[in-house]
Amino acid sequence: MTNAGTTNIDELLGRNRAFAAAGRHRGPTVMPRLRAFVVACLDPRVEPAGFLGLEPGEAMVVRNAGGRVTPEVLLDLAFIGALAERQVPEGPLFEVAVVHHTDCGTGILADRGFRRGFSARTGASEEALAHEAVVEPERTVRADVETVRECSWLPGRVTVSGHVYDLDSGLVRTVVGASPVGSPAPTGSVA
Ligand SMILES: [Zn+2]
Repeated sequence: MTNAGTTNIDELLGRNRAFAAAGRHRGPTVMPRLRAFVVACLDPRVEPAGFLGLEPGEAMVVRNAGGRVTPEVLLDLAFIGALAERQVPEGPLFEVAVVHHTDCGTGILADRGFRRGFSARTGASEEALAHEAVVEPERTVRADVETVRECSWLPGRVTVSGHVYDLDSGLVRTVVGASPVGSPAPTGSVA
């Protein structure tokens, strides 16, 4: 643990020098090799490089509290969509995987007392904060997949799917199978 006046940054910079010496940073291009765009929680237990085995250059990853599809995430997706359209004239562009997880810390936003205090501190509306809470990850991931699917900023050559990462088992379970942005919601979602 870090105490006031001490820092772990030197430790991290030492690891960076070892990384640079190994030369694994050379080669990846800006468009991800697996054409994957992962949205996940910033929880340190929810590290996509770990549970999805991602190597440098294989996927784009956006992380925030809960792994929620916020307006900022949609803007990032639209930006990458516009870039990808320029580089890939036809065929699939990339697939978005929204990953929520069990035991998410954002669940505390479901507590009215905490929410009221945090709203007073930040100015964020209590309603918006309540909406961010991931209490039932199967439900919130379905809602966020719909938000991506209905986003008119994204090319139809982008697909989206939804998943829940179980912290106990370490396994990712698909809740909403992949389908193209702008298409009708799939009827045969994976339970
Ligand atoms: Zn979380």
